[in-house]
Amino acid sequence: MRNSDEREGDAAPMDLTGLRFDLGPEDVPRSWYNILPDLPEEVPPPLDPRTMKPVDPAMLERLFARELVKQEVSQERYIAIPSEVREALVSFARRPTPLFRAKRLEEYLNTPAEIYYKYEGVTPTGSHKLNTALAQAYYNKLDGIKRLVTETGAGQWGSALAAAGAYFGIKVRVFMTRSSYKQKPYRRTLMELYGAEVYPSPSDRTRVGRRFLEEDPEHPGSLGIAISEAIEDVLSDESARYSLGSVLNHVLLHQTVIGLEAKKQFNEAGVYPDILVGSVGGGSNFAGFTYPFIMDRLKGTSDSEFIAVEPKASPSMTRGLYTYDYGDTGGLTPLLKMHTVGHSYKVPPLHAGGLRYHGVAPTLSILVNNGIVKPVAYNQVEVFKAAHIFAETEGIVVAPETAHAVKAVIDQAILARERGRKVVIAFNLSGHGLLDLQGYREYLDGTLKDYEPGELPIFEQAK
Ligand SMILES: *Cc1c(COP(=O)(O)O)cnc(C)c1O
Repeated sequence: MRNSDEREGDAAPMDLTGLRFDLGPEDVPRSWYNILPDLPEEVPPPLDPRTMKPVDPAMLERLFARELVKQEVSQERYIAIPSEVREALVSFARRPTPLFRAKRLEEYLNTPAEIYYKYEGVTPTGSHKLNTALAQAYYNKLDGIKRLVTETGAGQWGSALAAAGAYFGIKVRVFMTRSSYKQKPYRRTLMELYGAEVYPSPSDRTRVGRRFLEEDPEHPGSLGIAISEAIEDVLSDESARYSLGSVLNHVLLHQTVIGLEAKKQFNEAGVYPDILVGSVGGGSNFAGFTYPFIMDRLKGTSDSEFIAVEPKASPSMTRGLYTYDYGDTGGLTPLLKMHTVGHSYKVPPLHAGGLRYHGVAPTLSILVNNGIVKPVAYNQVEVFKAAHIFAETEGIVVAPETAHAVKAVIDQAILARERGRKVVIAFNLSGHGLLDLQGYREYLDGTLKDYEPGELPIFEQAK
């Protein structure tokens, strides 16, 4: 007998199967994908800031959990995900995340291209960052660490680590750039709800912080300064470790669950993406989504294109140098060989706080140098316009960081229309923007600004 739901349905129901692709909990990957053994070149070693020689792993273990230091230099292609972390990815981070077809956006753009997006906004903190936060909190707990210290800009990373600390029972302290502390009060509320301590940076709790406060008591802060404060704090407490939300190899590794899931979902959809797009702050969002596909390109089994999107105001890949630079403003961290606009570059107060970083991941830098990843840069206003189109057609108000990827996707879809090419475009919708409405308010009021940086890069090169 037919039930009443069926009787109420259309006589000729529409085929809905091509609109979203879901996986079950058992489809959450059992291993992360490590790109290091597949790269065309070796990653140059990090340098100790005191000696400018390759850093001693013991120094790194003072900052990071032991297993994370091992993962940082591992040459294993696949690294097993501990079952406790897999369980957290399912029950707490709500993985696997869905893949959607953006049909209404395609129709709006009148493009022959097919557009798909992986939606990382379903996690409790609203972005992909929880994927590595949970793994990092887990390995620190194994080492008996009592407290994790980190920095945050817009607050996405701080809230992800705070949530992961709540899950695994580790205290979390966050240095939040003062400008965001004031502009994004709800992110601070979220972090405190998860039990984290949040201090505006520069703060009076560290020597570095006090130095910047002396210069300017209302200093707006920067990610680079907040990293310096977090590291100084960690070095003063043996039971504390530092945690970073992007840039490092192990962070990018943990994010590959996104691309590994997406591969299964594209398999289910019966298509393989021709163009993959992601926005770049330090590179973990982009890498997490694309590296499992870049593996195919490096093996020669695909010729997909990869587009990495950054803000024109923080253009490390499009205008930076490929050189050794510090990870922070104070010069306390090891130096990484990367594309950078310089650690002392003052990144303008963009709404895409997660993209306000002076460098990018060393592995991503190598892929850019080898022409495998193509970087593009956009201005703030055009990016919000693209996000506005996406909200009206697809219903999701994306984070300002994600909006950079949306802009590139729309440009590619228009190009496909002009060339009459039926390409498959895919992007990572890294987070929703429901706690970023201040930027959208300015966009609607017409007060949103573009920032054009002058001469770049801005720093003295390390010798
Ligand atoms: C942090 C963030 C990014 C940038 O991530 P990276 O790993 O630093 O490149 C992109 N989108 C959202 C929503 C973010 O929170």
